[in-house]
Amino acid sequence: MSADRTLVFVGAHPDDESFGIGGTLAQYAAAGVKVYCICATRGEAGEVAPEFMKGFDSIADLRTHEMKCAAEALGLADVIYLGYRDSGMAGTEDNKRPGALAAALLDEVAGRIVEIFRRLKPQVVVTFDPVGGYHHPDHVAMHKAAVLAFHASGDPNQYPEAGPAFQPRKLYFMVFPHRFMKVIVKLMSFFGRDIHHMGKNKDIDLADFLETDFPIHAVIRLKKESIRTGERASACHASQLFEDSPRGGILGLIGKLLGRRDYFMRAEPPVTGRRKERDLFEGVV
Ligand SMILES: [Zn+2]
Repeated sequence: MSADRTLVFVGAHPDDESFGIGGTLAQYAAAGVKVYCICATRGEAGEVAPEFMKGFDSIADLRTHEMKCAAEALGLADVIYLGYRDSGMAGTEDNKRPGALAAALLDEVAGRIVEIFRRLKPQVVVTFDPVGGYHHPDHVAMHKAAVLAFHASGDPNQYPEAGPAFQPRKLYFMVFPHRFMKVIVKLMSFFGRDIHHMGKNKDIDLADFLETDFPIHAVIRLKKESIRTGERASACHASQLFEDSPRGGILGLIGKLLGRRDYFMRAEPPVTGRRKERDLFEGVV
């Protein structure tokens, strides 16, 4: 039934697909949906402890290897790298390096994504929320590029060199429930953590998560097996998992606590009623 169903996740780094929505991607892949992941960078700016570097020439090599492991675990049809350079958090030197995603032109990144949408013809596209979860410049850049690409893909006058127009049906942002984030922040404070300077580089402000309150339009209930597969995929990103790491640490922890459900805001088509969807492919023939 779902043989021709396709979902594309537009991410920025190797691990975004596992720590954020690994369970959902695994669940759809297991149901026969072709699940693709766009990965803008190879995670070059990630922090990696020396013991993980054995046998690898560079951080990009290591993280590409970890991504391959995660993609196999999740059952992804393919991972498509855009070849940009990982940017650090806002204001860091990594942002200004040549090839950095944060420095790339939005139109250019969107054009690359349009070409992929037109080739793979996904009915459903998933990406970050407008603040990229925690204001990582690469997440924000990919959110903007994905939204632009979603609308441009169906317009034959835009990016004509990127193939015949194709309009994906639905666009979702992965979001964290506001109420839940409040509990997390309280818990962290209770345990004496400085919530304004989290992560290995002390550059993640958990209070940022509370500033936004995106609506939840779709809730995916994860089967036990999907949760386990998501955890297996997360474990592939071992170099990013050590305690307090900027990505695995906090997002991984939040994911663990969220547990059995993934939450999404639907950007397209616009939501009218209040009923929450239980399937991202709802209404897609
Ligand atoms: Zn990321």
